Amino acid sequence: MFTNVLKINPDNFRTKELKEACDILKNGGLVAFPTETVYGLGGDALNPDASSKIYKAKGRPSDNPLIVHIADMQGLYDVADDISENGKKLAKAFWPGPLTMVFKKKNIVPLSTTGGLYTVAVRMPGHAIARELILQSGVYIAAPSANISGRPSPTKAEHVIEDLDGRIDMIIDGGSVGIGIESTIVDVSCEETVILRPGYITKDMIEDVVGNVSIDAAIKGIPKKDILPKAPGMKYRHYAPKGQLFIVKGDACMVAAKINRLVYEKENKGYKVAVIATDESIIDYKCNIVKSIGSRQHEDSIAARLYDVLREMDYLNVKYIYSESFGDDILGGAVMNRMLKAAAYNIINA
Ligand code: AMP
Ligand code: MG
Repeated sequence: MFTNVLKINPDNFRTKELKEACDILKNGGLVAFPTETVYGLGGDALNPDASSKIYKAKGRPSDNPLIVHIADMQGLYDVADDISENGKKLAKAFWPGPLTMVFKKKNIVPLSTTGGLYTVAVRMPGHAIARELILQSGVYIAAPSANISGRPSPTKAEHVIEDLDGRIDMIIDGGSVGIGIESTIVDVSCEETVILRPGYITKDMIEDVVGNVSIDAAIKGIPKKDILPKAPGMKYRHYAPKGQLFIVKGDACMVAAKINRLVYEKENKGYKVAVIATDESIIDYKCNIVKSIGSRQHEDSIAARLYDVLREMDYLNVKYIYSESFGDDILGGAVMNRMLKAAAYNIINA
């Protein structure tokens, strides 16, 4: 399949530039597009053939449901049932934006889109291109991240091209995304409001709007075999570079010392090794490849660079990667959540 790559300036484009993309979506095809979180792989959420194509293009397990993207509140009432007060309050506070909410689904949403669940995850993105695609096509867009399943999510069109060129109809290149990690997912379909995936909207921000919420026990700490996460996708290894990633925890000075020793051992054996550091600590490491993921003073910069740095490890063909750890102070633990999954929970205590 030929994949058309179309460059569009998100700050200055004419609606007719998106006509072809909208036609593809209306006809059941697939278009990758930028959102404020990561690039999404979009298809008509109400067309079972289109959602099947999404699973196939990504190699995504069929029990991992897709998020449905809407552009206005009417969209929510069309796809979701029994919309709770908390759901309405959170929509008012954070939409359009990087928050996904899980509701009971309406019948028009096919089970192939929801991975067989009777709930549906809905998000109203704020990105101008995403919004225009939904409005102009008249299609509610099912869009998981536009990567091959298991790989780091794409934060620029080049990442999408790497993974999906030849597998989908079109890629809209709208430059680098702003946030760089996926939306926060909150289940508002039951009495209790529960965070299923941490993201840019933190627990504190959510509690400011609806009072106490909990975090799905299954996503705290190292996964346990007997408790399955409520967001099915959270059980899979994800975001992983091809080399082996280790997260080194502890006091900053001890972490640098430990990493430097590990690097020395591996480089001596002839392996290609890299360190993931921050702007503040980059000078502390003795390794042929040291990459900064951003500044601890600006947590947003760390989220924005995360997946790009993980992909860079692949371009450099690195065998062992040692990274500093990032606590709950960095975006409410969202960065560490992704890092731990990428590292398959390989933690080294310094
Ligand atoms: P992605 O769009 O690639 O970030 O993946 C979407 C995430 O949303 C996955 O972790 C899914 O398991 C989760 N998700 C989608 N729909 C639901 C739902 N109805 N209930 C719980 N989690 C969901
Ligand atoms: Mg994903």
